Amino acid sequence: MKSVNPHNGQVLRPYTPHDLNHIEATLSAAKERFESWKLVPLSERSRMLNSLATQLRRNKSELAMLMADEMGKPLAEGEAEIEKCAGACEFYADEGPKYLAPELVKTDASKSWISFEPLGPILAVMPWNFPFWQVIRFAAPNIMAGNVGILKHASNVSGCSLAIEDLFTQAGFPKNVFSSLLVSGKEVEKLIAHPIIKAVTITGSTLAGKSVATAAGKHLKKCVLELGGSDPYIVLADANVKKAAEICTKSRLINSGQSCIAAKRFIVDKLVRKEFEVAMLAEFKKIHWGNPRDPKNTVGPQARQDLRDQLHEQVKRSVDAGAKLMIGGTIDENDPGAYYPPTILTDVEPGMPAFDEELFGPVAAIIEADDEKDAILLANQSIFGLGAAIFTEDVAKGERIAAQIDAGSVFINALVKSDVRLPFGGIKESGHGRELSYYGLREFLNIKTIYRA
Ligand code: NAP
Repeated sequence: MKSVNPHNGQVLRPYTPHDLNHIEATLSAAKERFESWKLVPLSERSRMLNSLATQLRRNKSELAMLMADEMGKPLAEGEAEIEKCAGACEFYADEGPKYLAPELVKTDASKSWISFEPLGPILAVMPWNFPFWQVIRFAAPNIMAGNVGILKHASNVSGCSLAIEDLFTQAGFPKNVFSSLLVSGKEVEKLIAHPIIKAVTITGSTLAGKSVATAAGKHLKKCVLELGGSDPYIVLADANVKKAAEICTKSRLINSGQSCIAAKRFIVDKLVRKEFEVAMLAEFKKIHWGNPRDPKNTVGPQARQDLRDQLHEQVKRSVDAGAKLMIGGTIDENDPGAYYPPTILTDVEPGMPAFDEELFGPVAAIIEADDEKDAILLANQSIFGLGAAIFTEDVAKGERIAAQIDAGSVFINALVKSDVRLPFGGIKESGHGRELSYYGLREFLNIKTIYRA
C-alpha cells in the first residue's frame, strides 16, 4: 500500500496495511465506544462537530497540499473541499438535534411516536476523488446521530485517511468514535461479515458497489451505494449557448474530470450543435493544466497512471467507433506523471464507450439530438442515473423536462453539485440510498415506533 504523487510518479510514502489483530482490536474498541457515545447528549455531539469544523479550517492549506500530492487535486479546489467539509459539520451540529427529535404521531394510542436511534459501528468504503468530502459527508451525520464510523479509504490516499482520524482526535472526540483502517478492497467482505459492523456505505465504482451490495445482502446488513455516473447535460435550441458552454466546461473539468457528478455527455439540439462545439472549444483552450501545486492550473493530473491509461483506452475505442477528436486525446508516453489533456469528442453516439461508459477524466462527449424528445431519450439511455442538467431559456419547459429525466438530481441552467441541505444519490447503476440533508442522516438509524396503550 503506497501513496504515489501523480504529478511525477514518485512514491511519497509506503504504508503497512493493518493486520488482523489491529482490525479486530479496532472493531472491538468501536463497539465499546458506541455503547457510551450513543448516550452522549446531542448538545455535546454538536459541540464536538463544531470543533471538527474549526480543526478542518485551521489545517486547510496543509490538507489541500496533502490532496495535491496524493491524488493531484489543484490547491484551490482542495481548500474549497475542506471549507465544504467544515460547513457540513456545522450544518449537522446545528440541524441534527431537530432531525433527530422524536416525532409524535396521532394514532389510537394514548401516545405513539417515532424515535431515531443509532445502529452501531458503520463501515464506510470511500474513494480517492474527494478524499475529505466523501468521508465527512458520511461521518458528520452518522456521528451526530450516535453511530460510530470505521473508514476503509482508497488505498492511494492513506495519508488523507490517517489525517481525518487525527482531525477527530484534535477536535476532542473520544477515541474510536471515528477510526481509519488501512486495508485493501479485498478485506471489505470480511469487514462487512463481521458481527460488530451493523451497516455499510460505499462511494466508488459500480463494480466495487456490486461487490459490496452482494456481501451486504449475504450478511443481511443495510447498505448505501453512491456509485458511478454519466451525467447528461441537455442543451436545447433556445438555450443561452455561450453560457451553457461555460457551465458545461466547468462541470466537465472539476476535479480534473474525476467527479461522479461531472457533466459527461453533452446532448445538444442539432440547431445549436455547431455553435455549442465552437463555444466549448474556446472554453477548453483557456484551461491551464499541469502541476496541481501551481495556483494557475485548474486541471491537474489524473489520480493514478492506470486510471489515466484506462481513460485513454476509452477515448481510443470511441474514436475507432467513429467519434471525432476536436482537441486533446494524446498522451506523452515519457511523462512519469498521470496527465491527460482536456479533450473534446464530437459525433458521439450510443454504442461508443464515451456514451455507454463512465469517462472518469477531462473528456467531453458531444452528442447531437434531433429535438427535445430525442434529447430526453438519449439522456435516459444509460445504465446510470446520478445527476443531469438542462439548459433552456424557457424555465417552465426546463421544469417539465426535469420530471422526465431518470436521475437522482436535475439542475436547470446550472451545474450539478452536492449541497448539504439537499439529498444526494442516484438510481439505476448509480446506486441507491441517499446522503446529505435529513434523508442522509436517517439512512443508518433504527426508525423505531413506540406505542403506549
Ligand atoms: P473504486 O475503485 O471503486 O474504489 C472505491 C473504494 O472501493 C476504494 O476504497 C476501493 O479500495 C474499494 N474497492 C475497490 N474494489 C472493491 C471491491 N471489489 N470490494 C470492496 N471494495 C472495493 O472507485 P474509485 O476509482 O476510488 O472512485 C471513482 C468512482 O467512484 C467513480 O466511478 C465515481 O463515479 C464514483 N464516485 C461516486 C460518487 C457518488 O456519490 N455517487 C462520488 C464519488 C465517486 P482500494 O482503493 O483499496 O481498491
